[in-house]
Amino acid sequence: MTESILHAELAAQLAQLTADGLKRRRRTLDAPCGPLARVDGRDLISFCSNDYLGLANEPALIVAACAAARTWGVGSGASHLVSGHQTAHEALEQKLAAFSGFPRALMFSTGYMANLGIVPALVGRGDAIFADKLNHASLIDAVQLARADSQRYAHGDLAALERLLAASPARRKLILTDAVFSMDGDLAPLPGLYQLAERFDAWLVVDDAHGFGVLGAQGRGSLVHFGIPAAQRIIYMGTLGKAAGGSGAFVAAHEAVIEWLLQRARTYIFTTGSSPIMACALAASLELIENGDARRTHLWQLAAQLRDGLAGTRWRLLPSPTAIQPVIIGDNHEALRVANALFERGLWVPAIRPPTVPRGTARLRVSLTAAHSAEQVAQLIDALRDLA
Ligand SMILES: *Cc1c(COP(=O)(O)O)cnc(C)c1O
Repeated sequence: MTESILHAELAAQLAQLTADGLKRRRRTLDAPCGPLARVDGRDLISFCSNDYLGLANEPALIVAACAAARTWGVGSGASHLVSGHQTAHEALEQKLAAFSGFPRALMFSTGYMANLGIVPALVGRGDAIFADKLNHASLIDAVQLARADSQRYAHGDLAALERLLAASPARRKLILTDAVFSMDGDLAPLPGLYQLAERFDAWLVVDDAHGFGVLGAQGRGSLVHFGIPAAQRIIYMGTLGKAAGGSGAFVAAHEAVIEWLLQRARTYIFTTGSSPIMACALAASLELIENGDARRTHLWQLAAQLRDGLAGTRWRLLPSPTAIQPVIIGDNHEALRVANALFERGLWVPAIRPPTVPRGTARLRVSLTAAHSAEQVAQLIDALRDLA
């Protein structure tokens, strides 16, 4: 039977993943997102989530969500262009535009969908895309969908990018980068990228999934962090499932760009509008982000504590100025072994392996949030020092 052969093949491929230390498994949490997780009846301190400001389970957001459910019900019922765009969504888009400093913003259901929508809507055959080698998977997939010529430059290498731009005959050019690299925690050289975009008349798409809410004055993101203006050639993408504590994403840009995305971005057009409950919760979240300096200060104190605490040990921390603090291990099996040893001690830190990161750079991705306490970070430091 053909079917059993197909399944046997999959079974062999799955066995290979296990042999390579690449088999992934989900753990089911019996608790809301937060620094304390409950898994299989065990209490753990979690350093896994991207809930950098601790807003995912914030009482003010829960109140807003409950009130929204009573006013708006649960579902939007259709795509935004048909009948799924409600006052709650419209109000959030206007708040996001004002907050990010761009003329207009457009919501997407997820950051992954935003990226898949933006890139093919803006460039196609005969155009050129220039992408950082360590960009997030969603940007890599977006490039594939776009059918433009694409070239990848070495991570953060402005000189390499300059050479590629200078050599490109393309009519329309688009530079594509994470602002904060999701598995390394480092920042893209945004001022240099912006200068090159200006010089070569290119668009600059900035994916600020890990900077929005965290970096810059009032958490306004990586552009503000670097003092880069909300210029016409910049297309800013922020996600709402990380620091904002909900789910979804938005693109903020020039009025014409947003109108074009609304007309042409397929992942905007051909999907049901996100829940109005989420739109209302996110509006509440934006206020907390804007007034969240105390949370951000605490977060930076925890990052400094972790870095100081591991200095001089065998654990190599990447030079990250963000909430993502990766400990490079190298070998897949070794990364898993250390992660499991931490888990046994009640500390949950994800082991990140290829293909999420390049081969030979398996790592523990420690992610800190404003909801962690100094004592919890101290426990992680003690355990890691012990395991070293
Ligand atoms: C998480 C992430 C995304 C995807 O956002 P979702 O809202 O989770 O789909 C896109 N880009 C980067 C850099 C990310 O880290």
